[in-house]
Amino acid sequence: MSPIGPGGTLGIVGGGQLGRMIALAAARYGLKTHVYCPDPDSPAFEVAGRHTRRGYDDEAALVVFADQVDVVTYEFENVPRRTAEILAARKPLRPGVIALATTQDRFAEKSFVAKLGIPTAPFRAVGGEADLLGALEEIGRPAVLKTRRFGYDGKGQVMIRPETSASDAWRTLRGAPCILEGFVDFEEEVSVVAARTVGGEFAAFDLCANTHSHHILDTTRVPAGVSGEAEREAVAVAARIAEALDYVGVLAVEMFLVRRGGEEHVVVNEIAPRVHNSGHWTIEGAATSQFEQHVRAVCGWPLGSAERRGRVEMKNLIGHDADRWRELLGEPGAHLHLYGKSEARPGRKMGHVTRVFAKP
Ligand code: AMP
Repeated sequence: MSPIGPGGTLGIVGGGQLGRMIALAAARYGLKTHVYCPDPDSPAFEVAGRHTRRGYDDEAALVVFADQVDVVTYEFENVPRRTAEILAARKPLRPGVIALATTQDRFAEKSFVAKLGIPTAPFRAVGGEADLLGALEEIGRPAVLKTRRFGYDGKGQVMIRPETSASDAWRTLRGAPCILEGFVDFEEEVSVVAARTVGGEFAAFDLCANTHSHHILDTTRVPAGVSGEAEREAVAVAARIAEALDYVGVLAVEMFLVRRGGEEHVVVNEIAPRVHNSGHWTIEGAATSQFEQHVRAVCGWPLGSAERRGRVEMKNLIGHDADRWRELLGEPGAHLHLYGKSEARPGRKMGHVTRVFAKP
């Protein structure tokens, strides 16, 4: 298939802030965008030329949408597989169905990563309370029980400590199919945000160090401050994952940094088949942003330089943090982003602010 030129239309499934920032990057390159999302309050609708507000199971609407765009991407990993297949049958879907299906189920995802010989926490599939007891015997405590699907920002997971009742933990997740993971005693949480093209060109941004608050990303710092070897290992792991998924677009691989025998190593926690919150710093902090890289990759264009412009810190504005917008506007060098969400509910990502300092 020939690349999509400027003037072509990028279809985006999902209307959140990630879709919004993809649409803004596409506009910069002279592309049109069409966002598909059932939610009337979608931040991406505000900045896209067209939008379709229909369900992800509305086959007729999906077909019409696919007919009106040149290439389709998505901004969240819980796009139903059937939806992805309907779209992929009509237009290039990037990343593809395999990447989506593998990463939207934590058990499939960890099995895939482990098969590549890449370290993960020990894990077992759990389909019932008896399975959980068996898995706890094998893995030990502390452990983390997570739903296989639809978990994000720490939702759908429960920590099982030595004193936790396994039945209570199981009931908390309401009988959903789960995965039990051994607890990783990590020093740091890091992520690799990288892009891969149709032809296999790969470019990673510098490793990000992430701190969370109440399970939600709070701050990303780059450089991550880890050893050069650990950073190279992290990027090599992301490249192997992208290659094995025949991935097209931007992906993020979330990892734990652990110390083994006095050396830092990485353990993969999760793959996000999309642009990622820990890559927002690239808008001002890198030569090409993660959103531009994603648009380039899915349109069949060459990637841009992923070079970092300085020491960078990105802070999320969660809930009422965004009320500080006036103060942030007045701060020299603070790059404010607001997502246009009407209601500042607790835990809701309302915007972010990036500060770029001179290169270390
Ligand atoms: P997740 O939804 O898998 O990204 O998990 C959310 C957060 O829970 C992570 O960012 C970690 O802080 C913590 N966490 C998840 N899994 C583990 C694990 N196996 N060991 C230690 N901490 C974990």
